[in-house]
Amino acid sequence: MTSSLPHPLRERAVEVLQNLVRFPSVSLSPNEGIVSYIETYLASHGISSVRDAHEDGQRFNLLARIGAPEGQERSEGGILLSGHMDVVPADASGWSGDPFVLRRQQGRLIGRGAVDMKGFLAMALAMAPEFATVADRLTSPLYLAFSFDEEIGCFGAERMPAFLAAHGARPTLAIVGEPTEMQPINAHKGGMELVTHIRGTAGHASRPAGTVNSLYIAARMIGFIEELARECAQAPDPSSPFDPPHSTLSVGTITGGEARNIIPERCSFDWEIRALPGTDPHTLRQRVEGFAQDVLLVEMQAVDPDCSLVTEMLSDVPPLEARAPSPAADLVARLWTNAPPTVVSFGTDGAYFQQAGLDTVVFGPGGMAQMHQPDEFITEAEIDQGLAFLSRLLNEMAAA
Ligand SMILES: [Zn+2]
Repeated sequence: MTSSLPHPLRERAVEVLQNLVRFPSVSLSPNEGIVSYIETYLASHGISSVRDAHEDGQRFNLLARIGAPEGQERSEGGILLSGHMDVVPADASGWSGDPFVLRRQQGRLIGRGAVDMKGFLAMALAMAPEFATVADRLTSPLYLAFSFDEEIGCFGAERMPAFLAAHGARPTLAIVGEPTEMQPINAHKGGMELVTHIRGTAGHASRPAGTVNSLYIAARMIGFIEELARECAQAPDPSSPFDPPHSTLSVGTITGGEARNIIPERCSFDWEIRALPGTDPHTLRQRVEGFAQDVLLVEMQAVDPDCSLVTEMLSDVPPLEARAPSPAADLVARLWTNAPPTVVSFGTDGAYFQQAGLDTVVFGPGGMAQMHQPDEFITEAEIDQGLAFLSRLLNEMAAA
């Protein structure tokens, strides 16, 4: 559904997007700059917000609430708009201009984060003053919940359930505005990222007796992971909407060794598990870990007690499970499209809002093909779509 006229708030959204893109808020880097810009912007429209600081004191989530002040009859429930403030890195060599300066060319707005997902943040922020204007007519509060470090494991969102609770926020519905081309998504796989470090013993290749070759150990552990991946593939869930309809395991990189004629003492490799909703990725991880600890490590330490085999879990994003009935999906159907919700293969912050008890849908403007690409862009027409949806949301939430 597209409107033929530019949305009246488009220029405000573009201006905010310009400002947001200027902060190179790459995951893991301090995000105080973008957070204080958003706080100041909201405050200038009479909207207060609160921060939630990571232990390092450098990265923050942000929560704002509009309408129905606490303690009033209409303060219960509410709708939460969720977006992440971090972006993936941008290697300037692949770009036709500075990735952190928004460019406007032939109906496109180009810059890192334009579509994933500062575009949605800009639309929500452009609409926030409109919601504030009708704050006393809102039947329940509107929340803005912006996170850090989504792209590398939803580390900000993991803190959201406690952050919401600490501020007495009890929204019942979450819309995660990731770019889905304005189609509702109600499920995604979980994602677990792991790295395994193996320490064997060093030695000369001509004298292998009494040594532990870390690459041999890695090869056997990787072989076990491959077997487990095959087992998952052989037992697909025919009713699953995912492609492929089974959990996957994969090994991505391996490093180790110094030279052909030296027994490699150290080796490490990166691997991942993407579990179908309903499958516990920890069960899969524990099977690999069982083989590693009970078979490989026992053998290694029988040769040399200083040998070690350690697997670190870098991230563990839970799956988003499709649930019915879904008031969030119904809201999207009522306001925008009757297309039935589908599934995507990327993780989102949504899983944590679902854990916090919010009915959650992933739904937002912009093309998925643009995510994480050089010259990432969102179109003006897509901005208009997002604003049109949020305007309808406002009309629905504001009692006549
Ligand atoms: Zn994203």
